[in-house]
Amino acid sequence: MDLKMRIDSRYQPLFEPLRLGPVSAPNRFYQVPHCTGMGHALPRTLAAMRGMKAEGGWGVVCTEYCSIHPTSDDQPYPFAALWDPGDVANLAAMADAVHANGALAGVELWHGGSYVGNLASRVSAIGVRSMPGREEPYQSQRMDKSDIRAFRAWHLAAAKRARQAGFDIVYVYPTHGYLISEFLSRTLNDRTDEYGGSLQNRARLLHELLEDTRAAVGDRCAIAVRFSADGHGDDHLTQEEAHDVIGMLGELPDLWDLVVGDYYGEEMATSRFAPEGALEARVAKIRPLTGKPIVSVGRFTSPDTMLRQIRSGVLDLIGAARPSIADPFLPAKIREGRLEEIRECIGCNVCYASNFRGVPLRCTQNPTMGEEWRRGWHPERVAPGKGGSVLIIGSGPAGLEAAHILGKRGYSVTIAEAADEPGGRVTLESRLPGLGEWARVRDYRLTQLRALPRVSMYLGNRLTADEVREFGADHILIATGARWRRNGMGRSHVRALDALPSTGVLTPDDILHGARPSGRVTIFDDDHYYMASVIAVLLARGGAQVTYVTTAGYAAEWSFYTGEQDRTQRQLLECGVQILVATSVEGFNGDTVTLACAYSRERQNLPCASLVLVTSREPEDQLYYELVGSDGAAAQLKVQRIGDCRQPGIIAQAVYAGHEAARGLDEVNERRPDRDRLVVGG
Ligand code: ADP
Ligand code: SF4
Repeated sequence: MDLKMRIDSRYQPLFEPLRLGPVSAPNRFYQVPHCTGMGHALPRTLAAMRGMKAEGGWGVVCTEYCSIHPTSDDQPYPFAALWDPGDVANLAAMADAVHANGALAGVELWHGGSYVGNLASRVSAIGVRSMPGREEPYQSQRMDKSDIRAFRAWHLAAAKRARQAGFDIVYVYPTHGYLISEFLSRTLNDRTDEYGGSLQNRARLLHELLEDTRAAVGDRCAIAVRFSADGHGDDHLTQEEAHDVIGMLGELPDLWDLVVGDYYGEEMATSRFAPEGALEARVAKIRPLTGKPIVSVGRFTSPDTMLRQIRSGVLDLIGAARPSIADPFLPAKIREGRLEEIRECIGCNVCYASNFRGVPLRCTQNPTMGEEWRRGWHPERVAPGKGGSVLIIGSGPAGLEAAHILGKRGYSVTIAEAADEPGGRVTLESRLPGLGEWARVRDYRLTQLRALPRVSMYLGNRLTADEVREFGADHILIATGARWRRNGMGRSHVRALDALPSTGVLTPDDILHGARPSGRVTIFDDDHYYMASVIAVLLARGGAQVTYVTTAGYAAEWSFYTGEQDRTQRQLLECGVQILVATSVEGFNGDTVTLACAYSRERQNLPCASLVLVTSREPEDQLYYELVGSDGAAAQLKVQRIGDCRQPGIIAQAVYAGHEAARGLDEVNERRPDRDRLVVGG
């Protein structure tokens, strides 16, 4: 069928090609540069993942931050690189995979400046002046004129390597606090020569790089600039100055890729803290300043919002990182009018956390993300199974994902759910403050199930082991979840707290089922992710006097990886929550909670009517063991447990477990070695 015929006419403007200098984007769907945790270390994993985006209809697919030289070495964080011919070969694999699906490939040339540690390369970091970087206890070297000349030469050489690797769009990247933005900063840049002082001087390096890049590759590659629409704060680049820079240089690149200055607070904010399209007002101000195309992001998952951005002229291209991770086939689904099939990003930033942990990208909504090469998983296709019946017990994220994939593989699936509504923890947690979008994990799967006539779900059905046996399914998947421990056991307490009273002690499960303690409430966070903090916000907003106690050094410490820690701690303070860090709960007698300093063990007592223990969880695996016996092997039954009832974890792990079990039913789950090395030259 002719492609044009298949476009849902409502969204035709999203499928118009767009000229970008010497190249043409086939449509308006633009995957902006985003981290992958793959970078230079996993070239085939990266190529397969980026190629999948192109297959799914993204008209432009970019790399992550791509280092131009060993003076910009972000290890242990996985970054892309174009240092040498080997890197060219590796990234050519990505460009080829993107081109094979008719899209343009973009590369975000990057120099981290003072920010990077150069831990592996062990060369000096360079900066506009000598200053500490992000983490290491040492400083960058101040750049003199010869360093600036060298830097320009490295950038130029990297641009040429980018062209050699086959890229169509080459970035100059003066934002996010990296080297070129150091030069733009009114405070950091203390130079007295032609690179310092006036805005024009501070922007000189950017100007020169644009001209260098244009001269080197501009005949074949579009030049893009990633730039903050509202500057980098008044100490660095005011909004007015940012606009002036665009006014000065607006016509030099072929494309402006706009972000905003507050990276964690807004640009990369989770759905807890920012809605779809949050950048729009600031990005809209750039339109009168340049005649060149503009792309920007906003966690866009709604086709109508996208259409509005294009029609109103705010954007020429719909930029996306997270929505393209959650659904690589989002453009294809819009094109074909299959809007209800879009797997919408929930804005949890688990993808981002993977990069921060130095491992390949993963996604709560899309369990195939990062597994395109290693496991050969396609986000939209699964192999037919051998047929037969499957009984799934539990309709949380693990159970629903398994049902959905097994249904697509042709199995006859029955889901039994004890509760009166489906979704397990996702349904309950999505009612907590700021977590509403998490319900998309359930809703996407329920929509998929509705189109699968051989899948049925029975709510309000708590099954016993006898009932499971009587049902007589060919396969049984136990997805019964986990419950929060009521005894304080967790990271800091390896045994239960002594003599806790029978009333006044609550767990997140109680809160999720409607308990709302009032008066003086202590919340003990030994879990360190989101749960304790959202409960604190909920109860404080309800009028309780909340003390949040954590064994970690910061509130919700693991949220550093999702970029939420700062906003979380601020939100707790704004809600009037008292925060005690590096502190543990040692006891509670119904009206006093005893706390201890994590270092000195010095104790203090606080008046407290209710104690909420957010420590660790107990797998809900009783049914499983009743079926398989204590040695874990049932002779007559093909039974396995998946998700939180096997390994309590984050929602992404439960979805992944459901997916993996469903793909692997009656199959040997193929898996390439975790080592992924391309044979490279140089
Ligand atoms: P996961 O994250 O692993 O998917 P959840 O805790 O979200 O786990 O979901 C587990 C679901 O299993 C809950 O909705 C719970 O009501 C259901 N469940 C637990 N035990 C039974 C049972 N014996 N029969 C039917 N449903 C059950
Ligand atoms: Fe969106 Fe979460 Fe997936 Fe990231 S991990 S793409 S934020 S759903």
